Amino acid sequence: MSGIVAIVGRPNVGKSTLFNKITGRRTAIVDDTPGVTRDRIYGTADWNGREFTLIDTGGIEYGQQDEACAYKDFLPKMRAQAQVAIDSADVIILVTDIRSGLTASDSDVASLLLKSGKPVLLCVNKCDNLGDNSPEFYEFYNLGLGEPFAVSSVHGHGTGDLLDEVIKMLPPAEENQLSTVNCQLSIAIVGKPNSGKSSLVNKIAGEERAIVSDIAGTTRDALDTTIERDGEKFTIIDTAGLRRKSKVRKAGEDVEHYSIVRALGAVDRCDVAVIMIDATEGFTEQDSKIAGYAHEKGKACVIAVNKWDLIEKDDKTMGEFRKKLEIDFSFMSYAPIVFISALTGQRIDKLFELCKVTFEQNTTRIGTGKLNDLLGYATSRVQPPSDRGKRCKLYYITQADTKPPTFVIFCNKIDLFHFSYQRYIENQIREAFGLDKTPIKIIARERGES
Ligand code: GDP
Ligand code: GDP
Repeated sequence: MSGIVAIVGRPNVGKSTLFNKITGRRTAIVDDTPGVTRDRIYGTADWNGREFTLIDTGGIEYGQQDEACAYKDFLPKMRAQAQVAIDSADVIILVTDIRSGLTASDSDVASLLLKSGKPVLLCVNKCDNLGDNSPEFYEFYNLGLGEPFAVSSVHGHGTGDLLDEVIKMLPPAEENQLSTVNCQLSIAIVGKPNSGKSSLVNKIAGEERAIVSDIAGTTRDALDTTIERDGEKFTIIDTAGLRRKSKVRKAGEDVEHYSIVRALGAVDRCDVAVIMIDATEGFTEQDSKIAGYAHEKGKACVIAVNKWDLIEKDDKTMGEFRKKLEIDFSFMSYAPIVFISALTGQRIDKLFELCKVTFEQNTTRIGTGKLNDLLGYATSRVQPPSDRGKRCKLYYITQADTKPPTFVIFCNKIDLFHFSYQRYIENQIREAFGLDKTPIKIIARERGES
């Protein structure tokens, strides 16, 4: 449903302040030390009902690094950031600062962005006084990025106009879903560098694919591989190739952070996300970030534990490994786990089978009649909770959406419809309709007594 918007710009121009303003984080700590305002790389934003993912490319840079380095040699870093934005985003916002005026590095990055052909919006930040467009403001027209947007990220002025334009430039919501266009399942293989993503794609494709082109700005679609298995077509979205292609690594950047951002774009576009874990390393922080994003987006997911051939095992090993992963991934307990080897091809068939099953469940539609029969049964078996003599009543349930299956339940009082009872209803739905392997969403709505 979403698209990706990336914020790029020099340190201290206000990228993270803008990010926080747009994603609606209320407790932004604002400090004059660059990087202090920042603790997230991406967030979900909504403008006039259009949802999108916002990435702060500065966050990738400074996120876990020594802040003293922020100013040093920032031009190569900015270029690398811009490259990430070009590779992953649908729309790019270049943030500049009216107080420091137009700088050489602004121009440098602007021309890089221009060359990419991606939609770019120019934000001139720190225009705190409304209607006061100083002569410096007009310099920014020289960047060739069209009309600059005068914005004050601190006050929020101008952000509405900027977002209106962002929304116009995002691809139509449906276009992000390849399957609806191509009628074939698209599978994104995401995970840490060296977990074996390209090895898996190569194994599946049955041949060493040509190394992707070295030309900057090569479209990410070039990395989609269409394969056929048992008469069915699949699109495989590989995020590893991008990393190889770009100059990012040479700039000495934190490869892991970039690979997360790349994974986000792939997850957005896919029908099923295969989250690749390296069996020799086990679960890591980065795995949880990527998986958490797929979970937030309600995607069908399969957890593939790769390099299983390298693990010394007896008859208990897999069970123990699985148990540990179930704890690590307890926030997405619906995601099936499969132990594979991209090297030997072990259980790749099973992986595909699981991709199909999770996708089927993720796109299931259940009739309102059947749902309400279940609701009647579930509420008669376990009574809804009550509080001080007032009982929660669930009137009606209907499925509002797929990807993920989303159910709206009308009740008399939302406060009474406790989380634990919602969980109970959710489990009843999962059990009754065979939805054990997909995220599902329950939305409670209040309706007057009837
Ligand atoms: P980043 O390094 O580009 O992410 O910049 P930050 O968001 O950390 O902001 C750097 C500094 O600029 C902080 O002190 C912010 O309070 C300040 N700042 C950000 N936006 C504005 C703005 O619109 N007006 C003013 N006056 N200051 C701002
Ligand atoms: P990527 O960065 O996620 O694309 O990882 P690669 O596909 O480049 O793999 C990283 C390394 O792990 C390479 O040396 C691969 O040969 C090796 N590798 C990948 N999958 C397997 C596997 O299933 N078993 C073994 N033994 N090695 C693997």
